[in-house]
Amino acid sequence: MAHDLDKYLQLARELGADEAVHLAVDHIPVDEKVVADCAGGNCEGYGLSANCPPHAQPPAETRALLAQYKDALLVGKRFPLEVMQKGWDSREWRGAFHSIYKLVAKLEDAVRADGHTRAIAFAAGSCRAAFCAGFDTCTVLEGEPCRFPKLARPSMEGVGIDVYAAMEKAGIDFTRVGEWSEDEEEMVTLVGLVIVL
Ligand code: SF4
Repeated sequence: MAHDLDKYLQLARELGADEAVHLAVDHIPVDEKVVADCAGGNCEGYGLSANCPPHAQPPAETRALLAQYKDALLVGKRFPLEVMQKGWDSREWRGAFHSIYKLVAKLEDAVRADGHTRAIAFAAGSCRAAFCAGFDTCTVLEGEPCRFPKLARPSMEGVGIDVYAAMEKAGIDFTRVGEWSEDEEEMVTLVGLVIVL
């Protein structure tokens, strides 16, 4: 398995990851407070997609899922603070989130194709923002298939994963949202996760 993990970390970098770190799954905390933050007016995507709270997998189920897994690949891409401050109306902002979804979905595909068929990916932010900002609805919430099934995934935070704690464990530098500097040269890291049995 160690050899496979090294190979997948290398693949993540080839797919565009600026950070790619192996993490034991039991170092990934899940906390109800994370989902409560989504609901507390901190995310424009709350309730707008099947992959976001309160529709996404609740933290208790995430905890039970992670308990079945051993290894995780935490992958990140860095974007200028200037872009990350723009929000949903910005094509660049949506593009940044789009790219982290694409990265984890491609990595999940490759890991599954290599024999780890129960690999599962989680992204960052809201798939509604990344893919369906130009539509009035999330089709899944209306009982129809997802428009982007090959790319859309729940976010780490949307299922209760404490993203900052995971980044800290992985040794990835980060600045919490709301504590960003005034320096527009600062880079912000968006992260996603692929768990592997
Ligand atoms: S249709 Fe799919 S990609 Fe679009 S918001 Fe719903 S779950 Fe996300």
